[in-house]
Amino acid sequence: MKFPNTIAAISTPPGIGGIAVIRISGKDSLNIAAQIFKGKFSPEKIETHRVIHGKIIEPETKEEIDEVLLTVMHAPETYTGEDVVEISCHGGVVSAKRVLSESIKAGASPAGKGEFTKRAFINGKIDLMQAEAVFDIVSAKTEQGLKSALAQLNGVLSQKLGSLRKILVSVLKDIELSFDFSEQDVSIPKRNTLEKKLNSALDGISDIIEESERASIVQDGISAAIVGKPNVGKSSLLNALLLEERAIVTQIPGTTRDTVEGWINVNGIPLNLYDTCGFKDTENVVEEKAIEKTMDVMNKTSFLLFVTDGSSRSVEEDVEMLDIVKNKKLIIVINKIDLPQRIRISELINGSDYPICKISAKEHSGIGKLNAEIMKLIEVNNLRLGNSSNIRSRHFALLSRGKGCISSALDGLIEGKGLELLAFEIKESLTVLGELVGEVTSEEVLESIFTKFCIGK
Ligand code: GDP
Repeated sequence: MKFPNTIAAISTPPGIGGIAVIRISGKDSLNIAAQIFKGKFSPEKIETHRVIHGKIIEPETKEEIDEVLLTVMHAPETYTGEDVVEISCHGGVVSAKRVLSESIKAGASPAGKGEFTKRAFINGKIDLMQAEAVFDIVSAKTEQGLKSALAQLNGVLSQKLGSLRKILVSVLKDIELSFDFSEQDVSIPKRNTLEKKLNSALDGISDIIEESERASIVQDGISAAIVGKPNVGKSSLLNALLLEERAIVTQIPGTTRDTVEGWINVNGIPLNLYDTCGFKDTENVVEEKAIEKTMDVMNKTSFLLFVTDGSSRSVEEDVEMLDIVKNKKLIIVINKIDLPQRIRISELINGSDYPICKISAKEHSGIGKLNAEIMKLIEVNNLRLGNSSNIRSRHFALLSRGKGCISSALDGLIEGKGLELLAFEIKESLTVLGELVGEVTSEEVLESIFTKFCIGK
């Protein structure tokens, strides 16, 4: 076993619940459990993957702390690859904390963030991409996000990477074989084989990048800003979409000073929506700050819901605003259709082909159609989240570096460049792909990944 110490943490969320689980992992797990557990059987004596009923006691005073179920799992068939004991006690803060503190008194060290998963990775139970999938599973926002993360945990992406690396290794072997025969140039048949292999590697990595992009959208989601002039119903729309009163709705124009945000689920895609205060020129200093914020939000979001008031005749202000945002993807949302409609749509859109959706935020009507328009906009424009999670940024950075190396090798081959250059690019691509699964990864990278986890995972 690679770790000298045994770690313990409460793995369930804080607060009152049916049960709480304390997890202990490491070479002394069974001994620690034996010191604080009193039951018909000793944790050290039972078979692996068995559950026993008993009590947690304070070893010196024999004070009973809680009635528990204790699960014993022997290494290596455990999450961390080490001996693991899980103690299910009554939910609630006090009991779980006492059980944890008795485990620590008996010799365990408090686990750091993500330390169980980090041990699973270092002990070779999972690769780095699978460890990252664990994080995605616990933070999944929709069922699709969960499904995609589970597929990654099951190693779907790791397997694809494995096949890609096999091709690259075989290319490298072919090249090295040519070196052995001290050929300076690659013969035509060999060149054809190499080209075929490199093309299939390029297809393989492009496929993985596409898959990661799909994963990114269902796991990290996409973001949009609700914009429009004051009082058109932006906050009401956010509320209608969130189905809860998160944004403050008032009748005084310009009262949404700060951006308010929330997540909604649009056909399985998590959509992060920002309500904004508007972005018109103004003399008012407070408003100016808020407008700056609106512009920031607009820049970081992938598309806009441009809200206008269908019961109002004047569209001049809307037209001016539309002109400011004309380069962004957007849906025009005509709100307040429960009132008599006076808006002149042709004047508003002025020949452009923005999708239009009519709703009443107040009466929650047209929201289904708006969701469908949002889906269409995302699909048609192949929209992606502006800011991917750290996990995805790491994947994309490494994958595009890998793709760059494979492309350079292929170009080099076609242009008849030396074999050394080809070998160099392929080796580099293998190193980069190795970093993806965590074969060569610095402590710094590991820290940045695992500190995102919660304690107990
Ligand atoms: P914002 O300034 O654009 O965020 O607008 P608010 O959401 O604060 O709404 C301004 C006013 O319009 C409030 O009095 C809302 O109750 C009202 N309002 C919003 N949506 C609708 C709607 O669909 N129909 C009607 N009749 N009133 C609405």
